[in-house]
Amino acid sequence: METILFATKNKGKIREINAILADMGVQVVSMEEAGITIDVVEDGKTFEENAMKKAVQVMEIGQKITLADDSGLEIDFLGKAPGIYSARFLGEDTPYSEKCSVILEKMRKVPEQERTARFVSCIAAAFPDGRRLVSCDTVEGIISWEAKGENGFGYDPIFYVSEKGCTMAELSAEEKNAISHRGKALRKMKTLLQKELERHETTGAE
Ligand code: IMP
Repeated sequence: METILFATKNKGKIREINAILADMGVQVVSMEEAGITIDVVEDGKTFEENAMKKAVQVMEIGQKITLADDSGLEIDFLGKAPGIYSARFLGEDTPYSEKCSVILEKMRKVPEQERTARFVSCIAAAFPDGRRLVSCDTVEGIISWEAKGENGFGYDPIFYVSEKGCTMAELSAEEKNAISHRGKALRKMKTLLQKELERHETTGAE
């Protein structure tokens, strides 16, 4: 069975990717399980660059097909901030309750039609033989007027998903996976990986 490394320390993301790749006959191993401890500096200018940088650096140590993701929240009224700086916004250790409150305050007088936002996720795959794959996807929403919901993490309580009529933090994990930026990007990556592994098996291509 093919082992795939996932370059994250976040257990929630490992659970999410395991659930999505479950029927592919691959085993997903976390950095911790593989004994890899490096911290990759996320100094890329795009989600895609950061995801690929993480995947390549971890692959070079683990020498296995390695997946990595980078994601964040883009708020149109704030010039797409916090964007690639979503985790670092107001400082890495600042609680999300505070980060969300600051955003709600900045958006206090902004009318509904200008509150558009999206979560973005890019997943990169790096193969030891040099092959590279990338898939990105988004989920559109608006910044709510108040924080609501206890599920999820990060900016979920202030991200209102119009098609669901509630915030992302009011959805169950399954409901979120079905519509989320990361769920969609992961399912696209699964298709790309399946094609790549099959092509490799049938043609022996490098
Ligand atoms: P990273 O992809 O682990 O670097 O995370 C980037 C940051 O974007 C997270 O720390 C959150 O602040 C935010 N973010 C990414 N995905 C989500 C999500 O699904 N819900 C809420 N916040 C998210």
